[in-house]
Amino acid sequence: MSSLFPALTAGPAAADRPALRFGERALTYGDLAAAAGAVAGDLAGARRVAVWAAPSLETAVAVTAALLAGVTVVPLNPRSGEKELGHILSDSAPGLVLTAPGTDLPAPLAGLPRIDVDPAVRAPGALPDDRDLDDAHPALIVYTSGTTGPPKGAVVPRRAIAATLDALADAWQWTGDDVLVHGLPLFHVHGLVLGTLGPLRRGGSVRHLGRFTTEGVARELNDGATMLFGVPTMYHRVAEALPGAPDLAKALAGARLLVSGSAALPVHDHERIAAATGRRVIERYGMTETLMNTSVRADGEARPGTVGVPLPGVELRLVEEDGSPVAAYDGETVGEIQVRGPNLFTEYLNRPDATAEAFTADGWFRTGDMAVRDPDGYVRIVGRKATDLIKSGGYKIGAGEIENALLEHPGVREAAVTGEPDADLGERIVAWVVPADPKSPPALEALADHVAGRLAPHKRPRVVHHLDALPRNDMGKIMKRALHRG
Ligand code: ATP
Ligand code: MG
Repeated sequence: MSSLFPALTAGPAAADRPALRFGERALTYGDLAAAAGAVAGDLAGARRVAVWAAPSLETAVAVTAALLAGVTVVPLNPRSGEKELGHILSDSAPGLVLTAPGTDLPAPLAGLPRIDVDPAVRAPGALPDDRDLDDAHPALIVYTSGTTGPPKGAVVPRRAIAATLDALADAWQWTGDDVLVHGLPLFHVHGLVLGTLGPLRRGGSVRHLGRFTTEGVARELNDGATMLFGVPTMYHRVAEALPGAPDLAKALAGARLLVSGSAALPVHDHERIAAATGRRVIERYGMTETLMNTSVRADGEARPGTVGVPLPGVELRLVEEDGSPVAAYDGETVGEIQVRGPNLFTEYLNRPDATAEAFTADGWFRTGDMAVRDPDGYVRIVGRKATDLIKSGGYKIGAGEIENALLEHPGVREAAVTGEPDADLGERIVAWVVPADPKSPPALEALADHVAGRLAPHKRPRVVHHLDALPRNDMGKIMKRALHRG
């Protein structure tokens, strides 16, 4: 297989081009090659390493070095509790941990040999040549977000990284001239594969904000950056900030590409951003196990509430519960998304049972996500099979469209919808609402009328709970399991 990072391994040609900037610290491709070469030298003999994946230059250098050296990387969330870290470490058994000098590592990691990564090292070690590595070689073991159960370690081969990044380059017309504004964590696919490895594979650059702020986004986009990748909670903050921030509106209006993923972007936020900037955020849909599956294309139409079309090389189908393909792509018939292609993971680490369950006999991956397709191929995600599909009064109702409708009610700031058992209906629709004004939370009747008027009477919530905040994980995803318990 060819190199994952041609701009790095190409030698002097790209040496002076900017590669990474985290806060005040920056590396060119030449600097990165030198620093990664030094780390790779220290990795000799290692097979699998953990990386303490704080949003830092050290993380980017460590991961790049390991990938080039053919050492499998297990990115760790620095905010994980000791229990979760303990689980990930005993599951993945890394031989070493790579981190920034001075990091105070928590107990489960203290016993591991560590390498302190120094991005400033300029004595060039030999940068390993990754062209001889097999395309099935395990590049990463990434733990899923744990939204629906304990995190599982997805083994991601080199092939999947190359395939997904090249498919996105096609869909997004992504080149080495692009400069990405990045405010995401680095221990998941979104921030690590798309946000860090993506620009490096294209020969472009990344500017990481450290902590996401709308001011940081405005500053970087007004200063030459071309793209923004974010999760919906970030675009929500952007939408809220826009009315009072003309520099932010100008920055977004001038950006080449605004991309959202990791969870559904509420239509209300999409529309508010479009109204204030003239720009439509495009959505892409992916998973730890599959990297990216679909996206709205840069040259396509950004239809709110859709995740676009299958990426080049990705086969996608919607199936009924019995596994047969849905009858029609008519924008209404709901089925489970199954995908096949070079973007897929190989297995769940140490979980042959879960791996076997996840694939059909002919190699399709069952995503657990439910969707409809428009006649022209656009995919609209309805929600997850496990938590977002409510069977009420003989209907199958997706939580997502009700959440979108609730968010358009002026009294609602955040909303999540679940089902709970009901003697009459099978399940009844429950709305969990963070009020815009805590002193006057919207009443059930008002919300039910609002939803019934916009969607259909059988989609109205029967119960409303008012909350101060929705339970969210580090990626801003709503943890519906916690709602059920609440
Ligand atoms: P776990 O598998 O541990 O329960 P998780 O599924 O949240 O956690 P990830 O692999 O990080 O872990 O997330 C993938 C899921 O995120 C997808 O299956 C889908 O439900 C959701 N998702 C990603 N992008 C989008 C999007 N653009 N719109 C709607 N949902 C999305
Ligand atoms: Mg999942």
